[in-house]
Amino acid sequence: MTSPYWAPTLAPQKVRTWATVSQRALLASPRVRRCTITVNGVVQGVGFRPSVYRLAVSHGVAGTVRNSRAGVVIDVEGDDASLEAFLTALGNNVPGAVSVAWAQPEGLAGFSIEVSAHDGKARFSPAPDSAMCEACAAELFDPGNRRCSYALQTCATCGPRFTIVRTLPYDRERTTMSCFALCAACRAEYNEPCNRRFHAQTIACPECGPRMSLRWPDGATQFAVDPIAAAAGEIHEGGIVAIKGVGGFHLACDATNAGAVAELRRRKRREAKPLAVMVVNLEEACALAHVSPTEASLLASPAHPIVLVRRRDIGGVAEEVAPGCRELGLVLPYTALHHLLLGEAGRPLVMTSGNASDEPIAHRDDDARQRLRGIVDLFLTHNREIVTPCDDSVVRVVAEVPRVIRRARGYVPLAIQLPGAASRPILACGGELKSTFALVRGPEAFLSQHIGDLASEAAFRAYGEAIAHFRRLFDFAPEIVAHDLHPAYRSTAYAQSLDGVERVAVQHHHAHIASCLADNGVDRRVIGVAWDGTGYGTDGRVWGGEFLVADLAGYERAGRFDYVPLPGGDAAIREPWRMAAVFLRAAYGDAMSSLDLAFIQRLDRAAWRVLRQAADRGLNAPLTSSAGRLFDAVASLLGLRDRVTFEAQAAMELEALTAAEADLVYPIGLRDGDDGLIVETPDVIRGVVEDLLRQVPASLIAARFHATLADLLARVCVRLRTRTGIGAVALSGGVFQNAWLLRAAVDRLEADGFQVYTHHQVPTNDGGLALGQAAVAARRH
Ligand SMILES: [Zn+2]
Ligand SMILES: [Zn+2]
Repeated sequence: MTSPYWAPTLAPQKVRTWATVSQRALLASPRVRRCTITVNGVVQGVGFRPSVYRLAVSHGVAGTVRNSRAGVVIDVEGDDASLEAFLTALGNNVPGAVSVAWAQPEGLAGFSIEVSAHDGKARFSPAPDSAMCEACAAELFDPGNRRCSYALQTCATCGPRFTIVRTLPYDRERTTMSCFALCAACRAEYNEPCNRRFHAQTIACPECGPRMSLRWPDGATQFAVDPIAAAAGEIHEGGIVAIKGVGGFHLACDATNAGAVAELRRRKRREAKPLAVMVVNLEEACALAHVSPTEASLLASPAHPIVLVRRRDIGGVAEEVAPGCRELGLVLPYTALHHLLLGEAGRPLVMTSGNASDEPIAHRDDDARQRLRGIVDLFLTHNREIVTPCDDSVVRVVAEVPRVIRRARGYVPLAIQLPGAASRPILACGGELKSTFALVRGPEAFLSQHIGDLASEAAFRAYGEAIAHFRRLFDFAPEIVAHDLHPAYRSTAYAQSLDGVERVAVQHHHAHIASCLADNGVDRRVIGVAWDGTGYGTDGRVWGGEFLVADLAGYERAGRFDYVPLPGGDAAIREPWRMAAVFLRAAYGDAMSSLDLAFIQRLDRAAWRVLRQAADRGLNAPLTSSAGRLFDAVASLLGLRDRVTFEAQAAMELEALTAAEADLVYPIGLRDGDDGLIVETPDVIRGVVEDLLRQVPASLIAARFHATLADLLARVCVRLRTRTGIGAVALSGGVFQNAWLLRAAVDRLEADGFQVYTHHQVPTNDGGLALGQAAVAARRH
């Protein structure tokens, strides 16, 4: 019998045993009893009904189990002892919330799995996609098995779920497997209670299931006896192959071939952002990187996310895979197809989302052909359709805690339990970058998969389609719609386009702190430290270095970084040199131009003069308190990067450069202002500059800078504790993706006696905003 496989590691379901419930009820009961048990939570598509069946048969109780829109319903009858034993055994294995109703016994005989009833209001969610299980892997390489080398095999506990389901309940006819009629052998397995594919909705075999094919970029079929071996051959030769996976197409090439990786970057128009690498097993992962036990179990967990791990110095993959990074994003094969491909290729493969630059991942064959034809040399595809595009999830372990940075395949659509229940259905529209949205029903929030930056037309379309799909899937009509305050966010425009709903606007950094509270299942007043790149403030300025006193209901601004101009608006985000010049000027005034710094030597003085004059007149230079911009400025001063090609690139490189330990912190001023404590940045900039003039190594300057911010953060929190009596701190915002800073801040705060909340289930970056908006709206309604 297969072991239960339904609780992905990052979101353990609360297990409740019923022994006490049933014992109490049994005291005043007749000999034969009957009850109806309804189980909510993730119980569809994880082999739950078959396991109930086996339990019932082994305990000699009669009745039925079925999926309904209210959850999984078990109708069961038996004598006291058998029923008691059955309920206890079930209680120990149940993955979701339960309710029990007692009924008159009717003399039921036998136990069966019934066809789903399509009735009532949906109260459950489909399971996330799950990586291939060990039993399936064993079959894949067993020459005697009829599914040996079958690239699309699955079972009752593993395989695609969320990405192939059209509507609920989760039964084969409502998935993209509906067009594959079962062969006699598969049907027999499907009906055999002891088989591990008993009632597996995705059951298939080489005889009756979907098939692999190989296509040229123009769509013509390339005939190959073994399409996977042929694709691996193409990769060996340095080619780039589009591979249809679970949530969309990947672009694959040989990760050890610098030329191939460079070519992939050129064609995909992705200059520097790190690329994920698929390795054949944990051993190979450990050969390329330092993998801790926590990271190893995460790599092998049912979600099989990309895990960012510290790379070894020995190479192993081309430098072009993750230039300037200390970490590698590794992922293990999570389908039979991947296992076969990695086996044929015999080397690590780059496996990056199938798209050009920042577009959403391509997931339909026709669309992929259109969008990827200029990028790939070959398509390795199959005829199992993908309904919902879903990127690989990305997780990083910091301080031994796995922290989701991009939440998608393997985690979505698992519910996140809010600290309180919403009285009305809520849709939270999220932000603009790394966008996600969330639905709230009662105490549960369903956060969507990562969709991308809504500035792109294709991403905004995908966003609308994903919301429509979630609404259908969850049978959901929002009454409350939460959104960001930013008038120019497309997610705000989307919220405003909905009729007949009540709208709740949530300030960006309040949403970050609320997201962190919801992530930890708490609703209490905290000192919220929300540091990121950009968020619309209530004074119309660009916030991003905020100290709030907040709970889910509301917030007060209790401190911030001093405002500086953002010369040229968004251009200053793409060009960190502009911020370096701004901060230098704030620290040194016009004397900055006589500083003996490499930065000053390469400064385009004419361009800077124009920007400076515009900023002085307040032209196209909004004021910002962004902490992210300070990181950019220091990265530029240290000569790391004056221009970025993706968000937070300079800050990431600054973190990668940082020495392990700092020996001192720079001074940093605090004053009282209208918005609470104001952090004065000139001192820290002067500290960096003086160190540069003294030829202190950049890695040590970076460490001192990080330590300074951690120290500052703790000092401000201590002052706010004195003023407010609040002893808990929540850290949120994209800046806390920085592991060095996060670790140092948590250490300092804990040493100062604070209870510290950080993110783990949802991203600390804008990918977590929707959850925060949802929690705020739920609290207010
Ligand atoms: Zn399996
Ligand atoms: Zn079959």
